[in-house]
Amino acid sequence: MTELAAPVRASVAAPVPGAGGVAPAARGRGAATSGPAEADWSAAVAAIREHAPAGRVLLICHVNPDGDALGSMLGFGLGLRRMGVSQVQATFPGEFEVPEPFVALPGMDLLVPEPQAYPDPDLVIVFDVAAESRLGGLVDRLAPAKAAVVLDHHASNTGFGGINLVDAEAAATSVVAEELLSRLGVPLDAGIAECLYVALATDTGSFKFDMTTPRVHEMAARLIATGIRPGDISRRIFDTRPFGAMKLFAEVLARAALDPTAAGGHGMVWTHVTQADLERHGQRPYVMDALIDPVRTVAEADVAVLVKQLGEAEWAVSLRSKGAVDVSAVAVAMGGGGHRLAAGFTGYGTPGDVVVAVREKLDQFLI
Ligand code: 5GP
Ligand code: MN
Repeated sequence: MTELAAPVRASVAAPVPGAGGVAPAARGRGAATSGPAEADWSAAVAAIREHAPAGRVLLICHVNPDGDALGSMLGFGLGLRRMGVSQVQATFPGEFEVPEPFVALPGMDLLVPEPQAYPDPDLVIVFDVAAESRLGGLVDRLAPAKAAVVLDHHASNTGFGGINLVDAEAAATSVVAEELLSRLGVPLDAGIAECLYVALATDTGSFKFDMTTPRVHEMAARLIATGIRPGDISRRIFDTRPFGAMKLFAEVLARAALDPTAAGGHGMVWTHVTQADLERHGQRPYVMDALIDPVRTVAEADVAVLVKQLGEAEWAVSLRSKGAVDVSAVAVAMGGGGHRLAAGFTGYGTPGDVVVAVREKLDQFLI
């Protein structure tokens, strides 16, 4: 399988696409507009070679982890195991609940709840986290470590790690993870590949979004060449949900509202989902995350907004654009972050308050 993958790899292993023309010096903290500098790749490889083999390694991804966060973290963790690293833990902040579609991912045995994570790791590696706020209480683990390496692909990444491998042109954090494994000399196996594939498929919307470049399909080809089953994986991750979730979706979609005059006439569609909705249908919070997908299909709206209840007057807000608005600018202005066409923030008040606030910000950030 490795033989099959090798020639494909060679065509993209040379200078990282997107890195051309940008001097390493121009890529400072917080200015992540292209691939990591060679010096940062080398520093990450050196830190892992120095601290991982005999040390405690803690892998961390963002709160409320998605397929890219979990997949890139667990895939990399399995890669470290293949290197012979014996003390590896993976964790994320907050409630220790893995969304049902991901519970069968290889490498799940690496996962521990936040309170059980090494208090004093030698090496910390962070996945898919744009800002320290997304690390919750686990941010404490970074300072005591001998090295803290951040793998990410958010343009808004603040450069909070000691070593930052941030590629804003990568479709998923797993693209960065695969490159780092390759530079460490770790070959792909089916377990690693399944994790990285789930991450890549999640963040490209099943290879549908604009960032689905030749580089993405080349990576998918390398992963599939290990023998993984894309059909089975996609059905499990994207196309399976409990009956109660389907009934919940029907209710939440029925209350959606559309204003074609919002966002400078590009249109906005929105809806919200409450804790009571979840309870009524016996569903866990993760099922809310998939609801943005049907909302964003609405032809009359460039912008889709899903307001998901977190607490009494606290809401996780998902923003999507088809291209007329930079929703990451809206999210950052509201204290969150993300990408140009997919972003989020935490809002307060009623769902109506949150929607009004988004509408007000939208006109400022038309592309
Ligand atoms: P989603 O709407 O799927 O939760 O998130 C879409 C994108 O926005 C993801 O890249 C995610 O990392 C980012 N995002 C969502 N919520 C927040 C937030 O509260 N803060 C930050 N910094 N980014 C967020
Ligand atoms: Mn991601």
